[in-house]
Amino acid sequence: MLFCIHSFAQSTGSWKQHKCAVTLTYDDAIDPHLDQAIPLLDSLGLKATFFLTCSSPAFTKRIAEWKQVAVTGHELGNHTLFHPCEGGKPGRDWVIPEYDLRNYSIRRMQDEMRMTNAVLFSVDGKQQRTFAYPCGDQRLQDSLYLDPHDFVAARATGEQLISINEKNLYSLGCFGVNGHTGEQLINEVKKAMASGKAIVFLFHGVGGGHPINVSLEAHRQLLQFLKEQEKEICTTTFLELAEWIRGKQ
Ligand SMILES: [Zn+2]
Repeated sequence: MLFCIHSFAQSTGSWKQHKCAVTLTYDDAIDPHLDQAIPLLDSLGLKATFFLTCSSPAFTKRIAEWKQVAVTGHELGNHTLFHPCEGGKPGRDWVIPEYDLRNYSIRRMQDEMRMTNAVLFSVDGKQQRTFAYPCGDQRLQDSLYLDPHDFVAARATGEQLISINEKNLYSLGCFGVNGHTGEQLINEVKKAMASGKAIVFLFHGVGGGHPINVSLEAHRQLLQFLKEQEKEICTTTFLELAEWIRGKQ
């Protein structure tokens, strides 16, 4: 099932009849996703992916609402229980020793990721899951920590437009949004349209709620553009995007 509009049955290009694909992802389970982003997405009929950190109060205190978000057709993705990242890097002062990746083992990390999958399964009943690396860290003591058996695909943080022929589904890049205007975000979509590729947006705060933020106005302008261009642009979840790429190979 694809969420974007299909105007004819036959595939004519990389993204069927669309010039490009767009996936909107929202990280860390914060209140503005439920209070701001989802009402707007739903009003426009657009589906997105929410990479949930399951210890976040905006998840633990609002599980019934997230259940409804899944029923509506949005994807609940795995962003771990406790958001472990590698400390000791610039800008990582907030990483506490208990959730510092340098203090984890691969086994502990994979256990946490599998438990997050179990939590999300209890919310949405889905077996197919995607992952977003906390802080974009893919390695633990020089080893890749993700077990591909546990996930369909994973979102990294490197800036990348995604080809339909992309081989590595466990390191799909994105465009990280932080303070951009609506016009700037729309221009990124236009680059994807011109090159026939997919673009994944990474949001944290939406109108606040996180130091990495997008204004409500810029967010609304981007989403309205995606709606207006829905015959040219397929806006779909990260899972669907990955399954589509996999199906082409
Ligand atoms: Zn995060």
